[in-house]
Amino acid sequence: MQKALAQEVRELVASARALVSELAEEGVDRFAQMPKSDRRPEGEPASGDVRAAAGPPRSGRAPAQPDEPGLFDAKPPWGEYPSLDEVREVLGECTRCPLSRGRNRIVFGDGDPDADLMFIGEGPGAEEDRLGQPFVGRAGELLTQMIEKGLGIPRSSVYICNIVKCRPPNNRNPLAAEAATCRPFLEGQIAAVRPRVIVALGKPATSLLLGRDVAITRVRGIWHEVRGIPLMPTFHPAFILRQYTPENRRRVWEDLKAALERSQE
Ligand code: URA
Repeated sequence: MQKALAQEVRELVASARALVSELAEEGVDRFAQMPKSDRRPEGEPASGDVRAAAGPPRSGRAPAQPDEPGLFDAKPPWGEYPSLDEVREVLGECTRCPLSRGRNRIVFGDGDPDADLMFIGEGPGAEEDRLGQPFVGRAGELLTQMIEKGLGIPRSSVYICNIVKCRPPNNRNPLAAEAATCRPFLEGQIAAVRPRVIVALGKPATSLLLGRDVAITRVRGIWHEVRGIPLMPTFHPAFILRQYTPENRRRVWEDLKAALERSQE
């Protein structure tokens, strides 16, 4: 009897954990305290979705929408197919948004300018900011392993960049305005590399590229399209490091395998 109860408690805790991480992915980071008068009398069944009580996602965390005013609203200062160098040159020693004030180095991108496969993450972390290279910290090590050991291709054969090129303070997600300011440079990188497939790593990159707020658990593994390029959303390697379960690793592995296969078709 006690064993059955303990098992039930374990299952409840596991499903509460799963719900909290799903809500966190959707930008919910706190639950509003309900006024006493609105509280459900004890014993009365809950009527609504628990998400309703969670309130809107934390302000400023919503991804930039494609129709938000951008830097080069009318036309970027490069042609239809710029080179990465051209885009980098226009970026310059950027001070267009406040992230520039906290950075050590701009982290533009890394890899083959003609890559068939392009990975897009969120923004540089401490190690990336120190070295000026994307995905070179712990999450980067995992990404490199997934590419080299998992997919069996050199990291240098893909192109890797982020939605923002300067490190957000305390590794927080880029704010909508920061992502919108940096977006033309990401667009420039996509136009320069013209990959066959883009892999969006995690919710912020996927939401920005799709132009809507997505829950990564729902969209990962499903083909989308951006600017006519097939887009595969998958979990961010930092999420995998936090939730290093066989199931999560299998999911990412399947997404990456599908992305590589499609890029080679
Ligand atoms: N490092 C990056 O370059 N991007 C991320 O999104 C995370 C770590």
